[in-house]
Amino acid sequence: MELPEFPVPPAAGPHAALRAEVRAFLKTALPRGFSEKDRAQSWTGFDAGFSRALGAAGFIGMTWSPDYGGHGRSFVERQVVLEELLAAGAPVAAHWIADRQSAPMILRNGTEAQRREILPKIAAGTCYFCIGMSEPDSGSDLASARSRAERRSDGRWTLSGTKLWTTYAHKSHYMICFCRTSASEVRHGGFSQFLVDLSLPGITIRPVRDISGAHHFNEVHFDEVILPEDALLGREGEGWAQVMAELSFERSGPERFLSSFPLAEAFLRAAPDTEESRRELGRQAAHLMVLRQMSHSVAGRLQAGERPDLHAAIVKDLGADFEQQLPERLRPCLNPLCADDSYRETFDHIRQAAPSYSLRGGTREILRGIIARGLGLH
Ligand SMILES: Cc1cc2nc3c(=O)[nH]c(=O)nc-3n(C[C@H](O)[C@H](O)[C@H](O)COP(=O)(O)OP(=O)(O)OC[C@H]3O[C@@H](n4cnc5c(N)ncnc54)[C@H](O)[C@@H]3O)c2cc1C
Repeated sequence: MELPEFPVPPAAGPHAALRAEVRAFLKTALPRGFSEKDRAQSWTGFDAGFSRALGAAGFIGMTWSPDYGGHGRSFVERQVVLEELLAAGAPVAAHWIADRQSAPMILRNGTEAQRREILPKIAAGTCYFCIGMSEPDSGSDLASARSRAERRSDGRWTLSGTKLWTTYAHKSHYMICFCRTSASEVRHGGFSQFLVDLSLPGITIRPVRDISGAHHFNEVHFDEVILPEDALLGREGEGWAQVMAELSFERSGPERFLSSFPLAEAFLRAAPDTEESRRELGRQAAHLMVLRQMSHSVAGRLQAGERPDLHAAIVKDLGADFEQQLPERLRPCLNPLCADDSYRETFDHIRQAAPSYSLRGGTREILRGIIARGLGLH
């Protein structure tokens, strides 16, 4: 399979000025007292003030038209900005999902009114979205989702059901909710997507703590929630094709291999200058450079208007492997118990978070199924 080359912009190339601009922004915009521990959270760190400042600086909604609050820049420029934010471990979670996948979905499938109403707020870093796909008995097998919206006689919809593992639902304004709208003989038929305003009556959001005790996830229950007619996103019955496209936006970004970058940097600062640590760092840097090249190739394909589902699945799967192995590969070179506090805290956070890397956004087995099908192997 070919992965066409879209060269990583050289350090001194035309993107250098943009890179410098982001670095200068980060120097002043990162919250006071932003610690290595905060940095280790990477794109799961939530800070509404930071997202607002990032929006004001023009670094959200970069590729959309100014008609919708965007900045008309290229996907590669966007990639440059994302790389800098991730390398700094900036707290981008508030707007991340909205910018990465909800806005492109609204741009592609939304009505003109939905675009004009919501996209400028996302670009300003003030409107946050969560992902309403997984349910208590339906994760990998999304087609078994049981949440259901029924059209009422007045054209509005009644939504009932439960979503699970919904990251930052408790801090989001909207969910893009995938649910059944009609019975279908075809397994993937009869689904639709809705823009659900999470302040509507009948919605209960309950926290689900992760392994470290932190509250990112939620269970979101819809008890006969009345949605306005224009809450439908895209076409009724086209939910499956739409949600598959959403997943390729979700999987295609550099956060799929850069969320543990703060650990590599902390190691670089703290590790003894031995042959063993130099060798390990060299090995990890080589993996990282290959992933980066592949990720730029995905950005180039998006720029060309293609749907790089297969390529995105490959980068995400290899990226999860890389990030899960990193703490284990570095540990023999520098025992975290013998290192300074900042390395130990970064190590502990990333080691605890690492098992989730091959679950969030689609599990390893599911991605490998997509890759095998894409390569014609089954
Ligand atoms: C950090 C994190 C954040 C998340 N955020 C969100 C969110 O915001 N919104 C949202 O909707 N979901 C979210 N999820 C949920 C995530 O998408 C699901 O956990 C994931 O899709 C797996 O679903 P499941 O947990 O139901 O596991 P299951 O689907 O039950 O899978 C269990 C195991 O069986 C394997 N398996 C399942 N089917 C097959 C198959 N056909 N062939 C081979 N193996 C198979 C899986 O790979 C896995 O190892 C998040 C998850 C994590 C970890």
